[in-house]
Amino acid sequence: MLTFNRIVLPLLLPITVLAATLLLPYQALLPPSLAGILEYGPYLILAIVGSLSVAFNRGKVLLASVLFLSGYLVVNWLPDQPGDQANIAAVSEFSLYALLPLNLALVGLYRERGILSLHGCLRSAVILIQIAAVIALVIQPQPDLFVLLAGELLALENAPWPALPLPASQLILLILAVSVIGTVTTAYGHNTPLSFALLGALGGYLLGLFNGESFSIYIMAASLILCLGILRDSYNNAYRDELTGLPQRRALNEQMMSLGRNYSLAMLDVDHFKKFNDSHGHDVGDQVLQMVAGQINKVGGGGKAYRYGGEEFSVIFPRKAKSDSFTYLDEVRQRIEAYQMVIRDDKRLKKPDQEASGLRSKGSFRRTTKKVSVTISIGVADRNDRSEKPDDVLKKADQALYKAKQTGRNRVVA
Ligand code: GH3
Ligand code: MG
Ligand code: MG
Repeated sequence: MLTFNRIVLPLLLPITVLAATLLLPYQALLPPSLAGILEYGPYLILAIVGSLSVAFNRGKVLLASVLFLSGYLVVNWLPDQPGDQANIAAVSEFSLYALLPLNLALVGLYRERGILSLHGCLRSAVILIQIAAVIALVIQPQPDLFVLLAGELLALENAPWPALPLPASQLILLILAVSVIGTVTTAYGHNTPLSFALLGALGGYLLGLFNGESFSIYIMAASLILCLGILRDSYNNAYRDELTGLPQRRALNEQMMSLGRNYSLAMLDVDHFKKFNDSHGHDVGDQVLQMVAGQINKVGGGGKAYRYGGEEFSVIFPRKAKSDSFTYLDEVRQRIEAYQMVIRDDKRLKKPDQEASGLRSKGSFRRTTKKVSVTISIGVADRNDRSEKPDDVLKKADQALYKAKQTGRNRVVA
């Protein structure tokens, strides 16, 4: 199950797109009127990805689409250029197998900072400079550099530069391997739809490169994966609560519309949370909410947790009467009650004379820790009348929660 969640699920979308791509090389099956798709399709899809990334201010995806566009141009356009063909081949090889994957891995590592921000502009500049360098190398071949790239270095005597430890073709493979490993690691580290989209897109691109034929189809697939990544990311943003990572009210409302005949629904509320915030500060309050959400999310019995809003949460138990879900909810309540959260408390130590003069010396902090804990109250209700709508059940759960508060808090009322 864990393997499925960690490995198969995030890659499902990229794998589906790539699998579909494998069928596409049967190009003869395409009606002649669609033949142009193979040549112009990548531009079209990359233009769509580019517009989407501008519309959603996703600088990382915009950079990735610029990289794929450059890669496509290198494959399609460079071989037709006049000039030293060996030089063009070496420059192409280096940019396709080393530069592009390396840049893509770096893009994956970046934190999203938008497009027109200082970071966004600097990142674009780094990529544009490389593109300019590649063009310059094609127009104005540098035999020395070509020798370096083509791996003939070791055969040369009196090389004017220090000898590389590896022949260049191995150097390319090394950069490629580092880039692939880097992209895989960041995808699983960040664990976001966009980071998996970048991984899937890199996979599609490399399949296309090594496959040789139908490169444009693989570039289209890679771009499509980026497209889906942006959409999936926006979907997640709309449905997930940022602080706790739980699905939020909108998702709960949608789930409530698709519930079957039997279910129970619980409302959970942190006790005296206003007081807690007042005495420990809002930041500590936020940390506690994250802890509480994490515990509620571990509820058993097939319950699904949501952040209803503020310090209130909901859990839906499909196909369970309230008497069944009661036990699982009480487990959550007990776990939260027992949870001692350690918080850092930076106390500034001042010597009396510094205090008077307002001076503070370096290192005059004392890092202390203290433990805090909270309790929650829970009301649960189920649907026991055909005429009851989910909203009615939610109201009943709210009334039960009210009762739990009235009768002393830190309890479940059914
Ligand atoms: P009761 O036991 O009756 O539920 O008392 P309470 O103080 O928990 O209830 P009340 O509804 O009066 O206060 C809820 C407080 O929750 C108010 C607000 O400061 C706090 N709160 C709501 N959302 C957040 C949040 O996202 N972060 C933090 N730190 N506090 C929040
Ligand atoms: Mg409340
Ligand atoms: Mg409360």
